[in-house]
Amino acid sequence: MQFHLNGLQTGDPAIHDANGESADTDRLSKEVDVLIVGSGPAGLTLAAQLSAFPEIKTLIVEQKDGPLKLGQADGIACRTMEMFEAFGFSERVLKEACWISETVFWKPDETNRQNIVRSGRIQDTEDGLSEFPHVVLNQARVHDFYLDVMRHSPSRLRPHYSRRLVDLEIDPDKSAAVTLGAVDYPVKAVLERTDLANEGERETVRARYVVGCDGARSAVRNSLGRSLHGDSV
Ligand SMILES: Cc1cc2nc3c(=O)[nH]c(=O)nc-3n(C[C@H](O)[C@H](O)[C@H](O)COP(=O)(O)OP(=O)(O)OC[C@H]3O[C@@H](n4cnc5c(N)ncnc54)[C@H](O)[C@@H]3O)c2cc1C
Repeated sequence: MQFHLNGLQTGDPAIHDANGESADTDRLSKEVDVLIVGSGPAGLTLAAQLSAFPEIKTLIVEQKDGPLKLGQADGIACRTMEMFEAFGFSERVLKEACWISETVFWKPDETNRQNIVRSGRIQDTEDGLSEFPHVVLNQARVHDFYLDVMRHSPSRLRPHYSRRLVDLEIDPDKSAAVTLGAVDYPVKAVLERTDLANEGERETVRARYVVGCDGARSAVRNSLGRSLHGDSV
């Protein structure tokens, strides 16, 4: 329906016209509205969402040297699938994933303890919970789908790899200005390059907001002087 909303638009409706400044450069913008640290599931979800709004200048940095190749979060709950549907790539996940429709239990065979026998079989996802199944797919493929959303977005957003956040400073006066709606960049982020060619080189980015999506040992959290409540695996 959207394809015909404002008359017939030729071309692939999933690929938006580029709008605004191109993100296709290795140089970092000096000033951004939102700096996202980390390109795991949390960082990519936020980046994919913000990429639909080119008027919000977003930068996402990641300390690894490229996209994930093999992850661990391969189990995808049906509720997560609903989110992927909203992003427009649930069908790609459904096509590639292993669908988990049942859970089967096994126990030692009482007549021959060297063997195991099936002791139970239950439906995996209860009826009525979701229109989607619970599936398993290499986490890296899910990251690929997020990156495609970003690549085809109006802002053509992409992560800047081999950048590790080492320090954050917040200017309290400028921070108040942001709250009042004045354009200012109260957060100074210092990033260190981790690729061989530029190892140790430091870059400074000023941001209106910084979102720490840098996992359980978050450098963003440490820079803010906050402590973790819970476990870091
Ligand atoms: C063994 C195991 C199995 C799991 N299985 C599942 C599963 O089946 N399904 C599921 O949904 N979840 C699973 N999880 C949980 C899942 O992995 C996490 O919930 C998820 O990865 C958290 O995402 P995140 O983006 O918050 O953090 P992370 O995935 O940790 O991503 C953080 C990113 O930030 C980067 N980063 C860190 N510090 C910096 C810095 N200073 N500067 C720049 N970048 C930085 C890291 O390189 C990383 O790419 C599993 C976890 C484990 C450990």
